[in-house]
Amino acid sequence: MKKIIITIDGWSSCGKSTLAKQLAKQLGYVYIDSGAMYRAITLYFLRNHINWLDAEQVNNALAEITLAFKFNNKTEQSEIYLNEENVEYVIRDLVVAEKVSEVAAIKEVRIFAVAQQQKMGEEKGIVMDGRDIGTTVFPDAELKFFMTADIAVRVQRRYIEMFGKNPNTSIDDVKANLEMRDYIDSNREISPLRKAADAIELDNTSITIEEQLQIAFKLAKEKITGK
Ligand code: C5P
Repeated sequence: MKKIIITIDGWSSCGKSTLAKQLAKQLGYVYIDSGAMYRAITLYFLRNHINWLDAEQVNNALAEITLAFKFNNKTEQSEIYLNEENVEYVIRDLVVAEKVSEVAAIKEVRIFAVAQQQKMGEEKGIVMDGRDIGTTVFPDAELKFFMTADIAVRVQRRYIEMFGKNPNTSIDDVKANLEMRDYIDSNREISPLRKAADAIELDNTSITIEEQLQIAFKLAKEKITGK
């Protein structure tokens, strides 16, 4: 069966990873969370006090970073490793979320991450979510989605997720973080968040997770089988 590349871009907390994971599972494809790579790099920079405005420090730090995704049979999820350490959970912290968009705007960081993402797609059969996947990483991908949802819905969803991990989370902090990341991500110089001209827009404000999966799966099957 022909394998394709499916890209899912969009605003923060639009449910991109939920759809990407489910779609990949249903198709027997590999799911790749490109945001986790930027988060892991940010974690490394924070832990090692790297001044990311200094290109030399950034390049030296990137040379020390190895990122890998490994499948966890227990959680049935692919998890990210930073220099052999599983950082899948710690990268979701608000401390990382507060800085990740600044770090992801740096040219050297993007070159480093994009090269690895393109390598992961060489064999196709992947669903990758992020901000620039359909525009920069895989501009020739066979199927592209651009996800949106009302800000209030996005804040509520992310708040529930973060509250489960840390009951001290405030809804105002979550909202401020989403708005800040969306602003930086869509206004940065390199690969800003944009809907690719050939991407299908999916607004999931008022559709269920099952409905969005059905829509995406049907379109994927059509692309794969040509019917
Ligand atoms: O997808 P997630 O919210 O985990 O991504 C975290 C951050 O990483 C985004 O806010 C964005 O700044 C950055 N990112 C990016 N390009 C991608 C994926 C994520 O710049 N392809």
